[in-house]
Amino acid sequence: MSDRIPLMAGNWKMNLNHLEAIAHVQKLAFALTDKDYEAVEVAVLPPFTDLRSVQTLVDGDKLKIRYGAQDISEHDSGAYTGEVSGPMLAKLKCTYVAVGHSERRQYHGETDEQCNAKVKAAYRNGLTPILCVGEGLDVRKAGNQVAHTLAQVDGALQDVPAGDAESIVIAYEPVWAIGTGEVATPEDAQEVCGAIRGRLAELYGKELAEKVRIQYGGSVKSGNVAAIMAQPDVDGALVGGAALDADEFVKIVRFAD
Ligand code: PEP
Repeated sequence: MSDRIPLMAGNWKMNLNHLEAIAHVQKLAFALTDKDYEAVEVAVLPPFTDLRSVQTLVDGDKLKIRYGAQDISEHDSGAYTGEVSGPMLAKLKCTYVAVGHSERRQYHGETDEQCNAKVKAAYRNGLTPILCVGEGLDVRKAGNQVAHTLAQVDGALQDVPAGDAESIVIAYEPVWAIGTGEVATPEDAQEVCGAIRGRLAELYGKELAEKVRIQYGGSVKSGNVAAIMAQPDVDGALVGGAALDADEFVKIVRFAD
């Protein structure tokens, strides 16, 4: 057994306005118990417009739920219309920020170089990046999933020092499994998560690699999460669609029950 505390994070994508966000977090807070928080860390990644409301709720009621953003600008301030900066997210006491989600890579053309700049922007501002990596269907069919995903890891971690990298969370999210209902088998998830840990060991040494949490994401539900979490190199889940239903997300958080 590793010492890594699993991170169960809900990526709400572009869903739930700030009022719905408050109701949703209240539901989670009501359902989750100290026993849950002893077993796992729970986080939500709402849209930017919800973060202030979530912060107020979490601060006011001293909730143990963590929260973060779904993206971050690589710049800290300036003429970048529409972007949200690391200092702004830090001011809202975000713990996490997703970097390089496949929807950002696909619809906004985010490159590994930009992911690298965003990872650095996160660390510069005291935020923990959840770096999302994973292959599309064509790459999987060609059997190149490991090489493809490791190249994304290499690109995003370029010149990131060990003192920062030791806290990174990496989410392996095969693109063909995101929002499709098509979940990777536990063995598929382990193959790539294990390879990611191996690459971290090559880059930073085994001790650091053993500390890093590697999540699986892609159509995770209460019915499939336990088998995925049983894999030795899977330390949590990044959950999209199923995280929008509070009862279902709580069941996912309690995967071990
Ligand atoms: C995601 O958005 O990161 C995700 C994994 O989505 P879903 O769970 O809906 O596949």
